[in-house]
Amino acid sequence: MSESSYDAIVVGAGPAGISAAIVMARAGLKVALLERGEYPGAKNVQGAVLYSRMLHEILPDFWTMPGAALERPVVEQKTCVTTEDSWITFGYKSLKFLQGIPNCYTIIRVKFDQWYAAQAEAAGAELFCGVTVREVIRKDGRIAGIKTSDGDELESSVVLACDGANSLLAQKAGLIDELKPVEVALGAKEVIALDSKVIEDRFQLNPGEGSAMDIFGSVTLGMLGYAFLYTNKDSLSLGVGCRLSDYQAKGLRPSDHLELVKRHPYVAKLISGGKTLEYSSHLIPEGGFKSMPPLFSDGFLVAGDAAQMTNPPYREGANMAMTAGRLAGETVIEAKKKGDFSAAALSVYQLKLKASYVLSDMEDIKDLEEAVASVPGFLEAYPKLACDLAHLRFSADGVPKRQHLRQAFRLVADRGFWRIAKDLWPLRKVAI
Ligand SMILES: Cc1cc2nc3c(=O)[nH]c(=O)nc-3n(C[C@H](O)[C@H](O)[C@H](O)COP(=O)(O)OP(=O)(O)OC[C@H]3O[C@@H](n4cnc5c(N)ncnc54)[C@H](O)[C@@H]3O)c2cc1C
Repeated sequence: MSESSYDAIVVGAGPAGISAAIVMARAGLKVALLERGEYPGAKNVQGAVLYSRMLHEILPDFWTMPGAALERPVVEQKTCVTTEDSWITFGYKSLKFLQGIPNCYTIIRVKFDQWYAAQAEAAGAELFCGVTVREVIRKDGRIAGIKTSDGDELESSVVLACDGANSLLAQKAGLIDELKPVEVALGAKEVIALDSKVIEDRFQLNPGEGSAMDIFGSVTLGMLGYAFLYTNKDSLSLGVGCRLSDYQAKGLRPSDHLELVKRHPYVAKLISGGKTLEYSSHLIPEGGFKSMPPLFSDGFLVAGDAAQMTNPPYREGANMAMTAGRLAGETVIEAKKKGDFSAAALSVYQLKLKASYVLSDMEDIKDLEEAVASVPGFLEAYPKLACDLAHLRFSADGVPKRQHLRQAFRLVADRGFWRIAKDLWPLRKVAI
């Protein structure tokens, strides 16, 4: 590692850290990007759908860049609601998703992060891998650098904590405590090799196009969360993420849970013939708006998962991390111009985030998880009700339709009209 001090030290070469490093290095700042993995992406897990606009704001038209580590542009988004033996799927497919700035791509993080970090190096940032940061250095009441697990010290005007879920840096800076099991989900994922032609036939895609599906209901065994199935070039990403406290209460390991998801008849058919290439699991911070740490202090900024910036019902996280990293980088550039890295100067970061979709979206869904979790069996009862109603609608069993209608009415009345309205009301926040 270089001996000289830096304008900015970025801890963590994930979407947040790399974005911040690109923006600052491009403006001529001396930036160190520190990553504990052997290489960027070595330890990172994501579904992974990556929304394009936020990356386009950092690397314009990135999808045309040589070597861009993208799998498939997603033309179809689907939701599947399951019981053990039935399922309802609904989705939206549009070629408009391919026009202009494509809406999103599937990616494989181990490839993507290496490519993205290379863009930070090309912009002038110094990337150091295999470096685990253990401590922050304080000087004159402000954070002025970091200490690695090898005891190396590095100084800077500002440190950016982009070290992901359960951020050690934000804890060392005294901004946050370790996450509680109700504030975090555990995601487990497999990449399953499948011939690209088989994928396109099975998912009804034109060559090169992709689809992304989230699966709710019985597959999560009553736990708060959902499963997902995304198409890559010649593999599928199948995963499931549920609240850690729910796994603890059930005594279930995510890897065992994923095996159960694979056996659901809808999923089993889609992945059949595939060969598992890798398994990974990772925390997803889901405490949301109410569990966010302070986002800045003297000489210190927090971005991405380190600051709990995710929007689970929309499967957004990496895009929010990129936006936050960019805004943190822009804040540091302004601070450098003023020669002021105090908390007051860095507080602009919070204003920038407030003006963006990041904080407003998080604020809008701040009560959603609690609302869903407070209704026992929510994620089992409503998928079952929906499937039972669909069963009546699509059955020609010799029973007069008016009797089906009465049965349907009874199914709904048994749960209670008022109760259904009250239970489902919080979902209005994620209806659009
Ligand atoms: C199963 C799963 C599915 C997901 N699906 C999606 C999806 O489809 N779409 C989406 O947008 N989001 C998704 N997410 C969320 C998304 O992965 C995160 O929101 C995103 O990765 C956050 O980026 P980040 O840069 O803040 O953190 P990370 O990507 O976690 O990067 C943090 C980096 O810091 C490094 N690091 C950590 N500690 C240290 C240290 N002490 N010293 C040095 N380096 C350190 C890590 O190795 C890592 O490289 C998913 C997450 C999971 C687990």
